[in-house]
Amino acid sequence: MIAETPSKTLPLEGNSPYDLRLYQSRDVPESAVKKALLSGDIGFIHSFTTGSTVDGPGVRVVGWTAGCHWRCLYCHNPDTWSMINGMPVTLERAVEGLRKYRAGLKVMAGGFTLSGGEPLMQDRFAVKLFTAAKAMGVHTAIETNGSLGERLTDEELEKIDLVLLGIKAWGSERHMHLTGKDIGPTLDFARRLAALRRPVWVRFVLVPGLTDDAQDIREIAKFAASLGNVERVEVLPFHQMGRYKWEKLGINYELDDVKLPTSALVDQTLGLFRAEGLNAV
Ligand code: SF4
Repeated sequence: MIAETPSKTLPLEGNSPYDLRLYQSRDVPESAVKKALLSGDIGFIHSFTTGSTVDGPGVRVVGWTAGCHWRCLYCHNPDTWSMINGMPVTLERAVEGLRKYRAGLKVMAGGFTLSGGEPLMQDRFAVKLFTAAKAMGVHTAIETNGSLGERLTDEELEKIDLVLLGIKAWGSERHMHLTGKDIGPTLDFARRLAALRRPVWVRFVLVPGLTDDAQDIREIAKFAASLGNVERVEVLPFHQMGRYKWEKLGINYELDDVKLPTSALVDQTLGLFRAEGLNAV
């Protein structure tokens, strides 16, 4: 049994995912972490935040999970890469943390989004939490890089009303440079969601000089349009709000000199997605 320490030193609710929260599970033995991951009875959470209007439809509670095996150059939450930085939270505590917002979320046509980190690093916990949210009548969404989608069965995917799928770059080499991982599993998951007709919003982070190649964006747009289940494409302009975390963590940050995208570049990118008939915003 994992004692919920030192998580008691911090509330589950955080002000923002940009808060730096470190080493919340440092006293949890590795064997207990493994057991928790297998059972899904305990999750490792950065925080829950409320009032988000940018992580799915309506106003949402967002659970920020710890653990990600990707290393995106523009990641704004590198403190969530390591599971050890998440606080151990029992499923019951997480469900209760959500339950108190249930009525308000319905009124505001919102719901619950699990983000991260990569939430499917904790796939059993995610499934149990989504199942509980659905039982409360709360709309559910997951923000994922899609690479671990095979961990979920088709039935489990039905507990997720919306997948916010990050497609970060096009082409193996560019994707590997940006994320440290192969794009193949993400595209396989996208095709599987399409075959199951599960609703998807594609999220694309626009970084000048890194992800703004027009031909690459056209390829992503063509792929997304071919799926038939992509309801929306969100073009997310790169920002520098996470830079201080890289500095605090002592990780080399390569994007120091990268400027924010101009509104002209954002418009041009939206145009490339819209040219394929996609609802790009
Ligand atoms: S997939 Fe998300 S959490 Fe993981 S490194 Fe990339 S941006 Fe960060």
